[in-house]
Amino acid sequence: SIPLGFFGGLGSASRQGVLIKGANYLEALNDVSTVVMDKTGTITRGVFEVNQILPAANISRSELLKTAAAAELNSNHPIAEALRKSAGELPIKQDDIDNYREMAGRGVTATIKGEEILVGNDKLMEEKNVDYISSDSGRTRVHVAADGNYLGRIEISDRLKPDSLNIISNLLDNGTRVVMLTGDSREAAAELAEKAGLEEYFAELLPDDKVEKLEKIIRDSKKKTAFIGDGINDAPVLARADIGISMGGLGSDAAVEASDVVLMNDRLSDFQAALNVAGSTRRIVM
Ligand code: ADP
Ligand code: MG
Repeated sequence: SIPLGFFGGLGSASRQGVLIKGANYLEALNDVSTVVMDKTGTITRGVFEVNQILPAANISRSELLKTAAAAELNSNHPIAEALRKSAGELPIKQDDIDNYREMAGRGVTATIKGEEILVGNDKLMEEKNVDYISSDSGRTRVHVAADGNYLGRIEISDRLKPDSLNIISNLLDNGTRVVMLTGDSREAAAELAEKAGLEEYFAELLPDDKVEKLEKIIRDSKKKTAFIGDGINDAPVLARADIGISMGGLGSDAAVEASDVVLMNDRLSDFQAALNVAGSTRRIVM
């Protein structure tokens, strides 16, 4: 049977916007020695700003941006949202888009008025044999191509959530191993890790690579490994962790389903709140 104290703990957590799907997870939070975090939407706000538009071909900045935004019309990725917001009104309708495909960790492709548009990262350009111009800025870069021809890139950036630095420092000070996983470029990952006070990170990971990295981290972990993600493309990692924690407001239903703990308010500090509740519950129950 479950000691009564656990119900108090689960209730107290839920009043703070932390849904814990069982007493076993509340108890397990006391034994977390490693915390693995996704970058976009978890450590960062998941709200990108467009910083620079760099056409490579005979195309204006506004055309480049609108072309990218049009191909991203049906994506709910934070990158797509930023491009659409910045592009404003688009010269196309839903009916003009065919063969739309989203490739997790890479980007999107769509046929617009007969042209095959690609919008995504270095990996996507390499896979599709597009001769792209690289960049080593610490920003997230979004390349655009049409029918295999490189049109240019758009550089965007995201900011830390206000509580990320503080939470990460607390975890590290308590001897917890903290690792960031991201599908973004090495340079963007390095810049963000530095801002977040993180030394350990792995970049350029596809969703399957994230699972593989997590499995290795779990094997090396002294006790339990928690993964915190925003739920966009990370349901498999959430499911694999000892404790999968998702952001309730940002993630998909599938992510909420795959996780053991849901932070309803998308705040990293609510993970700290969950650890605190777990600690006081153990003291009451023991
Ligand atoms: P993270 O690991 O930072 O949470 P994702 O796994 O969601 O990020 O995406 C990894 C990378 O894949 C992004 O940094 C971007 O380069 C590319 N990408 C994913 N989805 C899109 C999209 N809809 N449009 C453009 N690029 C995308
Ligand atoms: Mg993500």
